[in-house]
Amino acid sequence: MIEVWAIGGYTDIGKNMTAVRYNNEVVIFDIGVFVDKLISYEGDAWSLHPNKLLHIGALPDDTAMRKEWGKYVKAIVCTHAHLDHLGGITKIAHHYNTAPIIGTPYTIEVLRNQERDQRGHLDNKLVKMSPGNTFKISSDISVEFIYATHSTLQTIIAALHTPEGTVLYANDWKFDDNPTYGQKTDYARLKKLGSTGVTALISDSTRIDHFGRTFSEGLQAEMLKDLLLNLKHEHKLIVLTTFASHCVRISNMIKIAKKMGRIPIIFGRSMKNYLDASTRAKLISFKDVPILSFGDEIEAAFKMIEKQGREKFVLIMTGNQGETDAMLTRMARNELGLKLEKNDVVVFCSEAIPVPVCQANRQTVEKMIRDAGVHLFVDIHVSGHASREDQLDLLRMVKAKHYIPTHGTLPKLASAVELATGEGYKLGETVHLLQDGQRVKIE
Ligand SMILES: [Zn+2]
Repeated sequence: MIEVWAIGGYTDIGKNMTAVRYNNEVVIFDIGVFVDKLISYEGDAWSLHPNKLLHIGALPDDTAMRKEWGKYVKAIVCTHAHLDHLGGITKIAHHYNTAPIIGTPYTIEVLRNQERDQRGHLDNKLVKMSPGNTFKISSDISVEFIYATHSTLQTIIAALHTPEGTVLYANDWKFDDNPTYGQKTDYARLKKLGSTGVTALISDSTRIDHFGRTFSEGLQAEMLKDLLLNLKHEHKLIVLTTFASHCVRISNMIKIAKKMGRIPIIFGRSMKNYLDASTRAKLISFKDVPILSFGDEIEAAFKMIEKQGREKFVLIMTGNQGETDAMLTRMARNELGLKLEKNDVVVFCSEAIPVPVCQANRQTVEKMIRDAGVHLFVDIHVSGHASREDQLDLLRMVKAKHYIPTHGTLPKLASAVELATGEGYKLGETVHLLQDGQRVKIE
């Protein structure tokens, strides 16, 4: 008998955490934070005690699961380096300190950054496993990492193999056939699993309400190239912003800057964290580009830019969500040594996350930028999440007996259920609409 306990990410888009039990062995998939709650908290939310973080809704509530299943937890699997999948590990994993934390080399490097920055300490053994490999958890169960594409490096779809079948945990993913770096999703492996029988598929429904397919990262790179290589007006300083965890996109930005004959410089602490992790994991190396995060080095760079001429540079910085303390926002507020001026160019390679605090922050910073006479371009972006047609392709590829949508609000989960019923799944029997805290037995 396999049982799935939905702990977090089944009511909100964030704080993902799922526990899967086979006999007396439990594997936890992802322990994330609800980033929006951290952003809207006044003060340094990361320094809060886990109980307080739980109280403000920033952490998944694993209390009941821990009481009942805690002693059976044999492994914690982290699918990728985004905070809504990894950010809660340093706050919760110590409750399961005999369980190893298994992730790809990049994910583990980002987790080490988290440990350092939150001054936390993990007693759990950290296991680095590259996509394509399998880790034997016990004589009965093992976890396999399947190549998947998303919007951060080395994302995987996890397959938990048990004597009673395989549970596929696909949270988050997209089908990208031109990812510009790294391998495509391993379609052959997914189809093979589909032909031998998948007991359950747990899949993210973040973007299920978007009809059609999610476009490739290759297209985003082309859009940005098309924009920047064909600017018709006089352009001085160029400032680009995107998610700090999107190393592939940042590497493409660097290539485009060089193609323009400009010097790329990267600013911001979270950029440094994610990009250094990529260099350490021996993936994309950012060693030859300055990544500045300290006040004095930023100040010196700004002076140098003014002296050499702002038209010679492309700055890549944090602030894609208009976060109040990010570099771009502070620059727009004229708090830094370098001001945005007429004929500068600012490009947002991101969409505002559809929650009120992010949307309001983005509007505010965009207005400040426009008011300074800057050429502003927004939404030069493709999503990292599967759209409806991609979800349908995955459903048909793996032919799971049971389907459990996750990583969504109730309307999104309901939309996934509707998609599945169209494929012959039956609500409550083979497609399960779980909310945080609920569980289901499957066989
Ligand atoms: Zn993600």
